[in-house]
Amino acid sequence: MDGNNVLLEDRWHRKILNAYWIVMGMFLLAQAVFLLFGGIPQGVAEKGGMFWPRLLCSNGLTLLLLGMTETWLRRWTKHHKKAIVACGFLISYLFYFIMEPAADGSQVALLLPVLISIVYFDRRMMYGFGMFTILMYVPIYFLLERPLYEKPIPEFIQVESVFVVCLIFGRTILIRVKEFFAYLKTVMKSEQQLLVEKTISDKLLKMDALTGLYNHKTFHEYLDALLEHSEKYHLPLQLAIIDIDGFKKVNDSYGHWVGDLVLKQVASTITSIMTPNDFAARYGGEEFAVIFADKTLAEAERITEELRKEIAVVELSNMKGTPVTVSIGLCNYQPGDDKETLFRKADSALYQAKRTGKNKVVTVSDAIPADSPQGKVASI
Ligand code: GH3
Ligand code: MG
Ligand code: MG
Repeated sequence: MDGNNVLLEDRWHRKILNAYWIVMGMFLLAQAVFLLFGGIPQGVAEKGGMFWPRLLCSNGLTLLLLGMTETWLRRWTKHHKKAIVACGFLISYLFYFIMEPAADGSQVALLLPVLISIVYFDRRMMYGFGMFTILMYVPIYFLLERPLYEKPIPEFIQVESVFVVCLIFGRTILIRVKEFFAYLKTVMKSEQQLLVEKTISDKLLKMDALTGLYNHKTFHEYLDALLEHSEKYHLPLQLAIIDIDGFKKVNDSYGHWVGDLVLKQVASTITSIMTPNDFAARYGGEEFAVIFADKTLAEAERITEELRKEIAVVELSNMKGTPVTVSIGLCNYQPGDDKETLFRKADSALYQAKRTGKNKVVTVSDAIPADSPQGKVASI
């Protein structure tokens, strides 16, 4: 049972105990009115001759029981349900004696435990108490009601019938409740299913199906947000564009499916080298883009260089062990740079890398104008 259910059940323990107190209060009031204005009926006082002891004893014991249950609920954190049920069971018999066994319908008090079981949705407990009440009324009738109050047999049958009908009703209610819970569960399950499907489709919309990296659209959305953030809080940011060298030749020589495997391999190397604050995407056909958001330019340079080396040493079996290489253009964000400027800088660095022999990282140093295809060759 989770925390919410425990809290909910505890609220119900409290409500049921409050109901006991209210019924007890009503009984005491009714007895006071009865004694003040009606007095003790002659016949009742004579039969059994136990009116006062029985009344005082039942009231005293009921108050004691309620007090004990109240203490249990306040002092102890466990077995609240057991305390409430036990208290309800015992006071149902005490109520019966307070109400005066001679009075018609006083036996209804004996149904209290069955009603409590229904409130707790406890079918086994309801059957247990129901059967107990039906059986228990046999000695109560034959040893008490019949000899002392001369109640006729049809009344015994009537009372037992009421018990049985109450039990059947209780059973019907609990079956309905069970059905309703099952229905609620299927509704919740299908809602959960919808949520999972939505999460998956949201993810698919953001990801590139082949490589598992973010797609072009998501990359731009993320970069827009990040640029705004960097502008506002003067945070560092670098953009690297990674392009596979001679990829057309890979496709032409080994087929497109090998080309796809190469794309996957490169993507997985990029992912393996990234730290949690980096963001990588498949930017286009055989181009990838990585944003570094918490690094200095020197750190970003070191990582991209490491990435270039890592990719260059992977020997692909489908390409007879020939490794693929990448060229990387890296640039640093300068306050005032917009997305276009940033891309122009990274592109010019990539162009420089391709032009000067490929398989290298070129960084556009901040001093060099963005529209110039000049750069600092970081690695050859
Ligand atoms: P460079 O070294 O100058 O980058 O040359 P390159 O051959 O890598 O570049 P080019 O732009 O000439 O060719 C890119 C090729 O990438 C062309 C295209 O067929 C291929 N390509 C694009 N997307 C995919 C893809 O999803 N799968 C495969 N297998 N190939 C793709
Ligand atoms: Mg390209
Ligand atoms: Mg290429």
